[in-house]
Amino acid sequence: MGGVELDPYTDRYAARTRGMSASAIRALFAVASRPEVVSLAGGMPFIDALPLDAVGELVATMVRERGTVALQYGSGQGLPALREQICEVMALEGIEASPDDVVVTVGSQQALDLVTRIFCDPGDVVLAEAPSYVGALGTFSSYQADVVHVPMDDAGLIPAALESACEEMARANRTVKFLYTVPNFHNPAGVSLSVPRRDEVLAITQRYGIMVLEDNPYGLLGFDSDPVVALRGRTDEGVLYLGSFSKTFAPGLRVGWVLAPHAVREKLVLAAEASVLCPPQFTQTIVSDYLRTQPWQQQIKVYQEVYRERRDTILDALAQHLPEGTRWTRPAGGFYTWVTLPHGLDATAMLPRAVQGRVAYVPGSAFYADGSGTSMMRLSYCYPPPERIREGVRRLASVIDEELETRSTFADEPGTDLAPADVGVPEAVTAPGPDTA
Ligand code: PMP
Repeated sequence: MGGVELDPYTDRYAARTRGMSASAIRALFAVASRPEVVSLAGGMPFIDALPLDAVGELVATMVRERGTVALQYGSGQGLPALREQICEVMALEGIEASPDDVVVTVGSQQALDLVTRIFCDPGDVVLAEAPSYVGALGTFSSYQADVVHVPMDDAGLIPAALESACEEMARANRTVKFLYTVPNFHNPAGVSLSVPRRDEVLAITQRYGIMVLEDNPYGLLGFDSDPVVALRGRTDEGVLYLGSFSKTFAPGLRVGWVLAPHAVREKLVLAAEASVLCPPQFTQTIVSDYLRTQPWQQQIKVYQEVYRERRDTILDALAQHLPEGTRWTRPAGGFYTWVTLPHGLDATAMLPRAVQGRVAYVPGSAFYADGSGTSMMRLSYCYPPPERIREGVRRLASVIDEELETRSTFADEPGTDLAPADVGVPEAVTAPGPDTA
Protein backbone atom coordinates (compact mmCIF):
# COMPACT_ATOMS: atom_id res chain seq x y z
CA MET A 1 0.00 0.00 0.00
CA GLY A 2 2.70 2.50 0.92
CA GLY A 3 1.97 5.96 2.29
CA VAL A 4 1.82 7.03 5.90
CA GLU A 5 0.19 4.57 8.27
CA LEU A 6 -1.91 6.33 10.85
CA ASP A 7 -2.37 4.78 14.26
CA PRO A 8 -6.12 4.54 14.86
CA TYR A 9 -5.55 4.32 18.61
CA THR A 10 -3.75 7.66 18.87
CA ASP A 11 -6.38 9.44 20.96
CA ARG A 12 -6.65 6.58 23.44
CA TYR A 13 -3.12 6.38 24.74
CA ALA A 14 -2.28 7.62 28.23
CA ALA A 15 -0.51 10.97 28.41
CA ARG A 16 2.66 9.25 29.59
CA THR A 17 3.10 7.59 26.19
CA ARG A 18 3.82 10.97 24.60
CA GLY A 19 7.40 10.68 25.73
CA MET A 20 7.72 7.31 24.01
CA SER A 21 8.56 7.47 20.35
CA ALA A 22 10.22 5.04 18.03
CA SER A 23 13.25 6.55 16.50
CA ALA A 24 14.34 6.95 12.93
CA ILE A 25 17.74 5.89 14.20
CA ARG A 26 16.31 2.45 14.92
CA ALA A 27 15.51 2.00 11.25
CA LEU A 28 19.07 2.93 10.42
CA PHE A 29 20.35 0.40 12.92
CA ALA A 30 18.48 -2.33 11.07
CA VAL A 31 20.85 -1.54 8.20
CA ALA A 32 23.77 -1.10 10.58
CA SER A 33 23.42 -4.67 11.81
CA ARG A 34 24.41 -6.01 8.37
CA PRO A 35 27.74 -7.84 8.54
CA GLU A 36 29.52 -5.40 6.23
CA VAL A 37 28.86 -2.53 8.65
CA VAL A 38 31.27 -2.10 11.56
CA SER A 39 29.01 -1.22 14.45
CA LEU A 40 30.57 0.98 17.09
CA ALA A 41 27.02 1.68 18.20
CA GLY A 42 25.76 -1.16 20.40
CA GLY A 43 26.91 -1.62 23.98
CA MET A 44 26.84 -5.40 23.72
CA PRO A 45 29.14 -7.37 26.01
CA PHE A 46 31.53 -9.78 24.27
CA ILE A 47 29.79 -12.99 25.28
CA ASP A 48 32.21 -15.11 23.24
CA ALA A 49 34.62 -14.61 26.15
CA LEU A 50 32.41 -16.74 28.42
CA PRO A 51 33.13 -20.46 28.97
CA LEU A 52 29.91 -21.56 27.29
CA ASP A 53 30.50 -25.28 27.84
CA ALA A 54 30.79 -24.76 31.57
CA VAL A 55 27.69 -22.55 31.59
CA GLY A 56 25.81 -25.19 29.57
CA GLU A 57 26.73 -27.93 32.03
CA LEU A 58 25.80 -25.77 34.97
CA VAL A 59 22.36 -25.10 33.50
CA ALA A 60 21.79 -28.78 32.63
CA THR A 61 22.76 -29.94 36.11
CA MET A 62 20.64 -27.27 37.72
CA VAL A 63 17.53 -28.23 35.72
CA ARG A 64 18.07 -31.92 36.40
CA GLU A 65 18.61 -31.48 40.12
CA ARG A 66 16.48 -28.45 41.03
CA GLY A 67 14.32 -27.84 37.99
CA THR A 68 11.07 -28.09 39.89
CA VAL A 69 12.07 -25.10 42.01
CA ALA A 70 13.90 -23.13 39.32
CA LEU A 71 10.99 -23.42 36.91
CA GLN A 72 8.45 -22.40 39.54
CA TYR A 73 7.30 -18.88 40.56
CA GLY A 74 9.58 -17.32 43.15
CA SER A 75 9.62 -14.47 45.64
CA GLY A 76 8.85 -10.93 44.49
CA GLN A 77 12.03 -9.72 46.16
CA GLY A 78 14.20 -12.35 44.50
CA LEU A 79 15.96 -15.57 45.48
CA PRO A 80 17.33 -15.28 49.04
CA ALA A 81 20.57 -17.14 48.17
CA LEU A 82 21.21 -14.80 45.25
CA ARG A 83 20.55 -11.72 47.35
CA GLU A 84 23.23 -12.89 49.74
CA GLN A 85 25.68 -13.40 46.90
CA ILE A 86 24.81 -9.95 45.53
CA CYS A 87 25.93 -8.51 48.86
CA GLU A 88 29.29 -10.28 48.38
CA VAL A 89 29.61 -8.77 44.91
CA MET A 90 28.82 -5.29 46.22
CA ALA A 91 31.39 -5.73 49.00
CA LEU A 92 34.04 -5.51 46.25
CA GLU A 93 33.04 -1.85 45.91
CA GLY A 94 33.04 -1.13 49.62
CA ILE A 95 29.32 -1.62 50.19
CA GLU A 96 28.07 -3.21 53.39
CA ALA A 97 24.47 -4.27 53.03
CA SER A 98 21.90 -6.73 54.23
CA PRO A 99 20.35 -9.16 51.70
CA ASP A 100 17.04 -8.01 53.11
CA ASP A 101 17.51 -4.61 51.45
CA VAL A 102 18.22 -6.06 48.00
CA VAL A 103 15.49 -6.43 45.39
CA VAL A 104 16.37 -8.54 42.35
CA THR A 105 15.09 -7.06 39.09
CA VAL A 106 14.84 -7.95 35.41
CA GLY A 107 18.12 -6.25 34.55
CA SER A 108 18.95 -2.91 36.09
CA GLN A 109 16.67 -1.44 33.44
CA GLN A 110 13.69 -2.70 35.43
CA ALA A 111 15.27 -1.27 38.56
CA LEU A 112 15.34 2.15 36.84
CA ASP A 113 11.69 1.69 35.98
CA LEU A 114 10.64 0.67 39.51
CA VAL A 115 12.55 3.45 41.23
CA THR A 116 11.11 6.07 38.88
CA ARG A 117 7.64 4.59 39.28
CA ILE A 118 7.65 4.82 43.07
CA PHE A 119 9.24 8.27 43.29
CA CYS A 120 8.33 10.39 40.28
CA ASP A 121 5.08 12.18 39.63
CA PRO A 122 4.63 13.98 36.31
CA GLY A 123 6.61 17.23 36.36
CA ASP A 124 9.04 16.13 39.07
CA VAL A 125 12.66 16.86 38.28
CA VAL A 126 15.41 14.28 37.91
CA LEU A 127 18.92 15.69 37.87
CA ALA A 128 21.14 13.73 35.51
CA GLU A 129 24.58 14.05 34.04
CA ALA A 130 24.95 15.67 30.63
CA PRO A 131 25.07 13.32 28.76
CA SER A 132 23.12 10.45 30.39
CA TYR A 133 22.37 6.81 29.65
CA VAL A 134 19.70 6.75 26.94
CA GLY A 135 17.72 3.94 28.59
CA ALA A 136 17.37 5.91 31.81
CA LEU A 137 16.24 8.98 29.90
CA GLY A 138 13.58 6.82 28.21
CA THR A 139 12.36 5.62 31.61
CA PHE A 140 12.26 9.10 33.14
CA SER A 141 10.36 10.44 30.16
CA SER A 142 7.85 7.57 30.28
CA TYR A 143 6.94 8.69 33.80
CA GLN A 144 6.77 12.33 32.62
CA ALA A 145 9.64 13.41 34.85
CA ASP A 146 11.64 16.43 33.65
CA VAL A 147 15.35 15.80 33.29
CA VAL A 148 17.65 18.67 34.18
CA HIS A 149 21.17 17.98 32.98
CA VAL A 150 24.27 18.75 35.03
CA PRO A 151 27.57 19.10 33.15
CA MET A 152 30.50 16.72 33.50
CA ASP A 153 34.17 16.94 32.70
CA ASP A 154 36.95 14.36 32.62
CA ALA A 155 36.55 13.80 36.37
CA GLY A 156 32.80 13.18 36.09
CA LEU A 157 29.91 15.26 37.38
CA ILE A 158 31.03 18.78 38.31
CA PRO A 159 30.10 19.48 41.97
CA ALA A 160 29.83 23.25 41.49
CA ALA A 161 27.42 22.70 38.60
CA LEU A 162 25.40 20.28 40.72
CA GLU A 163 25.21 22.88 43.47
CA SER A 164 23.97 25.54 41.02
CA ALA A 165 21.37 23.17 39.59
CA CYS A 166 20.09 22.33 43.10
CA GLU A 167 20.01 26.02 43.96
CA GLU A 168 18.17 26.91 40.77
CA MET A 169 15.60 24.17 41.29
CA ALA A 170 15.04 25.29 44.88
CA ARG A 171 14.58 28.91 43.73
CA ALA A 172 12.12 27.80 41.05
CA ASN A 173 10.24 25.74 43.64
CA ARG A 174 10.71 22.57 41.61
CA THR A 175 10.58 19.18 43.30
CA VAL A 176 13.80 17.30 42.63
CA LYS A 177 13.31 13.60 43.31
CA PHE A 178 16.83 12.34 42.78
CA LEU A 179 20.17 12.73 41.11
CA TYR A 180 20.72 9.97 38.57
CA THR A 181 24.41 9.23 38.16
CA VAL A 182 26.68 6.61 36.59
CA PRO A 183 29.88 7.22 38.56
CA ASN A 184 32.05 4.53 36.95
CA PHE A 185 33.04 4.31 33.27
CA HIS A 186 30.05 6.36 32.31
CA ASN A 187 27.65 5.42 29.54
CA PRO A 188 28.08 7.26 27.21
CA ALA A 189 30.82 9.64 28.40
CA GLY A 190 33.46 7.03 29.33
CA VAL A 191 34.64 9.05 32.35
CA SER A 192 34.50 8.29 36.09
CA LEU A 193 33.65 10.42 39.09
CA SER A 194 36.89 11.20 40.92
CA VAL A 195 37.24 10.12 44.55
CA PRO A 196 37.21 13.63 46.07
CA ARG A 197 34.16 14.52 44.03
CA ARG A 198 32.27 11.51 45.39
CA ASP A 199 32.19 13.03 48.84
CA GLU A 200 31.41 16.48 47.46
CA VAL A 201 28.47 15.18 45.46
CA LEU A 202 27.09 13.38 48.50
CA ALA A 203 27.55 16.46 50.68
CA ILE A 204 25.61 18.59 48.18
CA THR A 205 22.75 16.14 47.68
CA GLN A 206 22.45 15.63 51.43
CA ARG A 207 22.41 19.38 52.01
CA TYR A 208 19.53 19.79 49.56
CA GLY A 209 17.74 16.62 50.71
CA ILE A 210 18.01 15.00 47.27
CA MET A 211 18.32 11.23 46.91
CA VAL A 212 20.99 9.70 44.73
CA LEU A 213 20.27 6.95 42.21
CA GLU A 214 23.67 5.37 41.65
CA ASP A 215 23.68 3.19 38.53
CA ASN A 216 26.78 1.04 38.45
CA PRO A 217 26.82 -1.73 35.85
CA TYR A 218 30.48 -1.20 34.89
CA GLY A 219 32.20 -0.65 38.24
CA LEU A 220 34.05 -3.98 38.21
CA LEU A 221 35.26 -3.48 34.66
CA GLY A 222 38.13 -1.10 35.36
CA PHE A 223 41.37 -1.66 33.46
CA ASP A 224 43.98 -0.06 35.65
CA SER A 225 43.06 -0.18 39.30
CA ASP A 226 40.95 -1.82 41.97
CA PRO A 227 37.29 -0.79 42.11
CA VAL A 228 36.62 2.56 43.74
CA VAL A 229 34.34 2.71 46.77
CA ALA A 230 30.80 3.32 45.52
CA LEU A 231 28.71 6.30 46.63
CA ARG A 232 26.57 3.78 48.52
CA GLY A 233 29.76 2.51 50.14
CA ARG A 234 30.36 6.01 51.57
CA THR A 235 26.91 6.48 53.03
CA ASP A 236 23.82 4.37 53.44
CA GLU A 237 21.58 7.41 53.64
CA GLY A 238 19.55 8.56 50.70
CA VAL A 239 21.37 6.42 48.11
CA LEU A 240 19.66 3.84 45.94
CA TYR A 241 22.19 1.63 44.24
CA LEU A 242 21.61 -0.30 41.01
CA GLY A 243 23.72 -3.27 39.96
CA SER A 244 23.62 -5.77 37.14
CA PHE A 245 25.08 -9.07 35.99
CA SER A 246 24.71 -7.97 32.35
CA LYS A 247 28.30 -6.79 31.96
CA THR A 248 30.09 -9.08 34.42
CA PHE A 249 28.29 -12.26 33.30
CA ALA A 250 25.62 -12.07 30.58
CA PRO A 251 22.85 -9.63 29.66
CA GLY A 252 20.59 -12.33 28.20
CA LEU A 253 19.84 -13.56 31.71
CA ARG A 254 18.32 -10.19 32.60
CA VAL A 255 19.35 -10.21 36.24
CA GLY A 256 20.02 -6.93 38.01
CA TRP A 257 19.20 -5.49 41.40
CA VAL A 258 18.45 -2.47 43.58
CA LEU A 259 19.88 -1.92 47.01
CA ALA A 260 17.56 0.51 48.76
CA PRO A 261 17.09 2.00 52.20
CA HIS A 262 14.98 -0.44 54.18
CA ALA A 263 11.80 1.64 54.09
CA VAL A 264 12.00 2.07 50.32
CA ARG A 265 12.67 -1.61 49.72
CA GLU A 266 9.10 -2.57 50.66
CA LYS A 267 7.59 -0.17 48.10
CA LEU A 268 9.98 -1.49 45.46
CA VAL A 269 8.87 -5.07 46.10
CA LEU A 270 5.23 -4.05 45.77
CA ALA A 271 5.99 -2.22 42.53
CA ALA A 272 7.96 -5.22 41.24
CA GLU A 273 5.11 -7.58 42.06
CA ALA A 274 2.71 -5.33 40.17
CA SER A 275 5.10 -5.36 37.24
CA VAL A 276 6.36 -8.96 36.91
CA LEU A 277 5.03 -10.84 40.00
CA CYS A 278 8.55 -12.05 40.62
CA PRO A 279 11.84 -11.86 38.76
CA PRO A 280 12.59 -15.04 36.77
CA GLN A 281 13.47 -17.78 39.20
CA PHE A 282 15.19 -19.69 36.38
CA THR A 283 17.81 -17.11 35.46
CA GLN A 284 18.33 -16.10 39.08
CA THR A 285 19.17 -19.73 39.88
CA ILE A 286 21.62 -19.83 36.98
CA VAL A 287 23.37 -16.69 38.23
CA SER A 288 23.40 -18.00 41.79
CA ASP A 289 24.89 -21.36 40.72
CA TYR A 290 27.39 -19.59 38.49
CA LEU A 291 28.59 -17.45 41.40
CA ARG A 292 28.73 -20.49 43.69
CA THR A 293 30.50 -22.94 41.39
CA GLN A 294 32.48 -20.96 38.80
CA PRO A 295 35.53 -18.69 39.08
CA TRP A 296 33.44 -15.56 38.40
CA GLN A 297 36.07 -13.08 39.56
CA GLN A 298 38.51 -14.71 37.16
CA GLN A 299 35.93 -14.31 34.39
CA ILE A 300 35.65 -10.60 35.17
CA LYS A 301 39.43 -10.39 34.69
CA VAL A 302 39.03 -12.09 31.30
CA TYR A 303 36.43 -9.48 30.33
CA GLN A 304 38.70 -6.68 31.59
CA GLU A 305 41.54 -7.91 29.39
CA VAL A 306 39.31 -8.17 26.31
CA TYR A 307 37.93 -4.67 26.79
CA ARG A 308 41.28 -3.15 27.71
CA GLU A 309 42.78 -4.36 24.42
CA ARG A 310 39.82 -2.92 22.53
CA ARG A 311 40.01 0.37 24.41
CA ASP A 312 43.71 0.61 23.53
CA THR A 313 42.89 -0.17 19.91
CA ILE A 314 40.17 2.43 19.56
CA LEU A 315 42.19 5.18 21.27
CA ASP A 316 45.13 4.41 19.05
CA ALA A 317 42.99 4.38 15.89
CA LEU A 318 41.23 7.61 16.84
CA ALA A 319 44.57 9.34 17.35
CA GLN A 320 45.82 8.00 14.04
CA HIS A 321 42.83 8.73 11.83
CA LEU A 322 40.50 11.41 13.15
CA PRO A 323 41.02 14.96 11.92
CA GLU A 324 42.45 17.71 14.04
CA GLY A 325 39.95 19.38 16.30
CA THR A 326 38.16 16.13 17.14
CA ARG A 327 38.18 15.30 20.86
CA TRP A 328 37.43 12.12 22.75
CA THR A 329 37.50 10.80 26.30
CA ARG A 330 39.99 8.20 27.54
CA PRO A 331 37.99 5.57 29.45
CA ALA A 332 39.78 3.68 32.23
CA GLY A 333 37.16 0.92 32.08
CA GLY A 334 33.79 0.03 30.63
CA PHE A 335 32.64 0.10 27.03
CA TYR A 336 32.55 3.65 25.64
CA THR A 337 34.40 6.67 24.44
CA TRP A 338 32.65 9.97 23.78
CA VAL A 339 33.71 11.89 20.72
CA THR A 340 33.20 15.59 20.00
CA LEU A 341 33.34 16.42 16.31
CA PRO A 342 35.24 19.43 14.99
CA HIS A 343 33.57 22.61 13.74
CA GLY A 344 30.21 21.66 15.25
CA LEU A 345 29.59 18.90 12.70
CA ASP A 346 26.21 17.29 13.25
CA ALA A 347 26.58 13.62 14.21
CA THR A 348 22.87 12.91 13.76
CA ALA A 349 22.81 14.29 10.25
CA MET A 350 26.00 12.45 9.41
CA LEU A 351 24.73 9.03 10.54
CA PRO A 352 23.02 7.99 7.27
CA ARG A 353 26.22 8.79 5.41
CA ALA A 354 28.28 6.89 7.97
CA VAL A 355 26.06 3.83 7.62
CA GLN A 356 26.45 4.15 3.86
CA GLY A 357 30.18 4.23 4.53
CA ARG A 358 29.68 1.00 6.55
CA VAL A 359 30.26 2.25 10.06
CA ALA A 360 27.71 2.99 12.80
CA TYR A 361 27.74 4.96 16.07
CA VAL A 362 25.12 6.47 18.36
CA PRO A 363 24.65 10.23 17.83
CA GLY A 364 25.17 12.32 20.95
CA SER A 365 21.69 13.85 20.97
CA ALA A 366 20.29 10.47 22.06
CA PHE A 367 21.90 11.05 25.45
CA TYR A 368 20.37 14.45 26.15
CA ALA A 369 16.75 14.90 27.20
CA ASP A 370 16.70 18.24 25.35
CA GLY A 371 18.17 16.91 22.09
CA SER A 372 21.42 18.87 22.46
CA GLY A 373 24.81 17.17 22.05
CA THR A 374 24.45 17.16 18.27
CA SER A 375 28.17 17.44 17.56
CA MET A 376 28.94 14.42 19.74
CA MET A 377 28.78 10.68 19.35
CA ARG A 378 29.23 7.56 21.43
CA LEU A 379 31.61 4.90 20.17
CA SER A 380 31.49 1.45 21.79
CA TYR A 381 34.59 -0.69 21.60
CA CYS A 382 33.23 -3.65 23.57
CA TYR A 383 31.98 -5.91 20.83
CA PRO A 384 33.96 -5.78 17.57
CA PRO A 385 37.38 -7.45 17.54
CA PRO A 386 40.37 -5.08 17.39
CA GLU A 387 40.92 -5.28 13.61
CA ARG A 388 37.25 -4.40 13.01
CA ILE A 389 37.51 -1.49 15.44
CA ARG A 390 40.48 -0.16 13.44
CA GLU A 391 38.59 -0.55 10.19
CA GLY A 392 35.53 1.11 11.70
CA VAL A 393 37.52 4.12 12.86
CA ARG A 394 39.20 4.39 9.43
CA ARG A 395 35.77 4.46 7.80
CA LEU A 396 34.46 6.95 10.34
CA ALA A 397 37.44 9.20 9.69
CA SER A 398 36.76 9.27 5.95
CA VAL A 399 33.09 10.12 6.55
CA ILE A 400 34.13 13.00 8.83
CA ASP A 401 36.75 14.15 6.30
CA GLU A 402 34.15 14.19 3.53
CA GLU A 403 31.76 16.07 5.76
CA LEU A 404 34.42 18.69 6.50
CA GLU A 405 35.22 18.96 2.82
CA THR A 406 31.57 19.48 1.88
CA ARG A 407 31.31 22.09 4.57
CA SER A 408 34.36 23.99 3.39
CA THR A 409 33.15 23.85 -0.24
CA PHE A 410 29.72 25.20 0.60
CA ALA A 411 30.94 27.61 3.22
CA ASP A 412 32.39 29.66 0.33
CA GLU A 413 28.97 30.10 -1.25
CA PRO A 414 27.16 33.07 0.21
CA GLY A 415 23.79 32.33 1.75
CA THR A 416 24.23 28.57 1.76
CA ASP A 417 22.45 27.04 4.69
CA LEU A 418 24.46 24.19 6.08
CA ALA A 419 21.60 22.78 8.10
CA PRO A 420 21.44 19.13 7.14
CA ALA A 421 17.79 19.22 6.09
CA ASP A 422 18.38 17.26 2.88
CA VAL A 423 19.34 14.03 4.62
CA GLY A 424 16.41 14.00 7.00
CA VAL A 425 17.37 14.39 10.62
CA PRO A 426 16.36 11.35 12.67
CA GLU A 427 14.57 11.98 15.94
CA ALA A 428 16.42 11.37 19.14
CA VAL A 429 16.54 7.83 20.46
CA THR A 430 14.02 7.74 23.28
CA ALA A 431 14.20 4.11 24.22
CA PRO A 432 17.39 2.11 24.39
CA GLY A 433 16.60 -0.93 22.30
CA PRO A 434 19.21 -3.61 22.01
CA ASP A 435 21.29 -1.52 19.60
CA THR A 436 21.89 1.47 21.77
CA ALA A 437 21.90 -0.01 25.28
N1 PMP B 1 22.45 1.44 33.17
C1 PMP B 1 23.45 1.68 32.32
C2 PMP B 1 24.35 2.85 32.58
C3 PMP B 1 23.66 0.86 31.22
O1 PMP B 1 24.68 1.12 30.39
C4 PMP B 1 22.78 -0.23 30.99
C5 PMP B 1 22.90 -1.16 29.80
N2 PMP B 1 23.63 -0.76 28.78
C6 PMP B 1 21.76 -0.45 31.91
C7 PMP B 1 21.62 0.41 32.99
C8 PMP B 1 20.78 -1.57 31.76
O2 PMP B 1 21.40 -2.80 31.94
P1 PMP B 1 20.67 -4.15 32.25
O3 PMP B 1 19.19 -3.89 32.22
O4 PMP B 1 21.10 -5.09 31.18
O5 PMP B 1 21.13 -4.56 33.61
